[in-house]
Amino acid sequence: MLSTMQDVPLTVTRILHHGMTIHGTSQVITWTGGSEPQRRSFAEVGGRATQLAGALRDALGVTGDERVATLLWNNSEHVEAYFAIPAMGAVLHTLNLRLPPEQLVWIVNHAADRVVIVNGSLLPLLAPLLPHLPTVEHVVVAGPGDRTALDEAVAARTAAGVPVQVHAYEELIAGRPTAFDAFDWPELDERSAAAMCYTSGTTGDPKGVAFSHRSIYLHSMQVNMAESMGLTDQDTTLIVVPQFHVNAWGLPHATFMTGVSMLMPDRFLQPGPLAEMIERERPTHAAAVPTIWQGLLAEIADRPRDLTSMARVTIGGSACPPALMEAYDKLGVRLCQAWGMTETSPLGTMSHPPAGLTAEEAWPYRVTQGRFPAGVEARVAGPDGGFQPWDGESAGELEVRGPWVAGAYYGGAGDEPFRPADKFSEDGWLRTGDVGVISPDGYLTLTDRAKDVIKSGGEWISSVELENALMAHPDVAEAAVVAVPDERWGERPLATVVLREGASAGYAELKEFLAGKIAKWQVPERWSVVAAVPKTSVGKFDKKVIRKQYADGELDVTRL
Ligand code: AMP
Repeated sequence: MLSTMQDVPLTVTRILHHGMTIHGTSQVITWTGGSEPQRRSFAEVGGRATQLAGALRDALGVTGDERVATLLWNNSEHVEAYFAIPAMGAVLHTLNLRLPPEQLVWIVNHAADRVVIVNGSLLPLLAPLLPHLPTVEHVVVAGPGDRTALDEAVAARTAAGVPVQVHAYEELIAGRPTAFDAFDWPELDERSAAAMCYTSGTTGDPKGVAFSHRSIYLHSMQVNMAESMGLTDQDTTLIVVPQFHVNAWGLPHATFMTGVSMLMPDRFLQPGPLAEMIERERPTHAAAVPTIWQGLLAEIADRPRDLTSMARVTIGGSACPPALMEAYDKLGVRLCQAWGMTETSPLGTMSHPPAGLTAEEAWPYRVTQGRFPAGVEARVAGPDGGFQPWDGESAGELEVRGPWVAGAYYGGAGDEPFRPADKFSEDGWLRTGDVGVISPDGYLTLTDRAKDVIKSGGEWISSVELENALMAHPDVAEAAVVAVPDERWGERPLATVVLREGASAGYAELKEFLAGKIAKWQVPERWSVVAAVPKTSVGKFDKKVIRKQYADGELDVTRL
């Protein structure tokens, strides 16, 4: 029997209209570094998104599913682009401004971006690349910045016979109608691409994930559920996670559904300004990777600030050290861990403990990666080809599927989606490359990336467990553990440690500290104190770099 329900497409256009009307008074607040942030209501942002769509279509000639890229900080213009571009039927392509130039060039060419919207402050990054980006016909500059390098690049493109036009964002949208109905929004297929994002590409070329209108809509609803971030129009969320990092974890779209105000840090991402914006604007929620929260903690140890408005924080992108969670508990800020990846939009799990537990009973749940929502199915592939029981002990590679999980990557031969066998199972599940266990009540605990697992004498050692234990030592600011070759055991862990300023703990003391917490055979015998742990473009430990530094003899390693 066919259902009798209406089949209304789930589109970003619908979210835009809802946000700018029903939640028209909610705000996008962008930090300016000055005495007052910029404040725009959702009604205004929606009106400006309508103007932007009009300008892209009428002035720049963007049609169909052409790609419009953004090279922007988290700010109002970026939110406007988040809605204008997908809703007009084009594809929003967020560019990671921390990628090395050659990767950015590869990605823009691969996506065949036709327009780039860029912050003036990022022109020194974009301009030198322009001669290598033949598909880019228009550059739209938002906000102030030095245009010298851009003018030179434009001249070079013109001389080469591949001209590029430059527009000022405000001038481009000025005078255009702001009413939602003034633009002829197309009827969209909910399965068509709305936005795309490339994985950071630590191995091989970066891979493009193309999110659909439907996946964004459903993912936004999940973000808003109480079992996930659960925010309402009573909340303001500080979105530190960059808008180029998996759509800022879905927050800009989700907040337009529920009227949550957004506090956007723009380029002011250092701990000092972040502490100031929290104290002054009093957000009730925030989202960022652990590195940001480590930095903020060090900042407020030196200059105490009131962070108490921020009752809840979503932390993810890499494992949250339990010691960090404890430190924020003491400040009245509750960190809730989330796991996800570009391929999962990204929300995969969140670590809310089950009901009815004391704080002590809840703790072991809080330090897991969390529980799967109904929209994400999970299984753990064991070493022998079968699937592991959910017993909290049997480890393997996590596989997931669901309506906001990628089933392929963008742009194989002839632009067909492609499904590499190491990333997708034969029956279509995403192979996450993350190794862990699932408890009988569905909580995921990750012990490693598959490629970071340490295999010592045939047994697995979890680098994450060692790092968490080390970071619980008061003298340790950061710790990253990698596998290094060992004649006797095949591989052994190497611990690289960043000590806090003025700290004195020696290797013997740290080893002793670990021996009390970790099975003795897992305790590393190779140690190195480093000034900083190398980080990826989105602030995660870059273990590939550490392994290379070790192989190249660049680390001062003590063995004991
Ligand atoms: P990306 O696509 O850049 O967001 O990276 C996704 C990867 O980040 C995942 O496959 C995990 O390896 C890692 N990751 C994300 N969240 C967590 C978490 N809460 N704990 C441990 N690893 C995480």
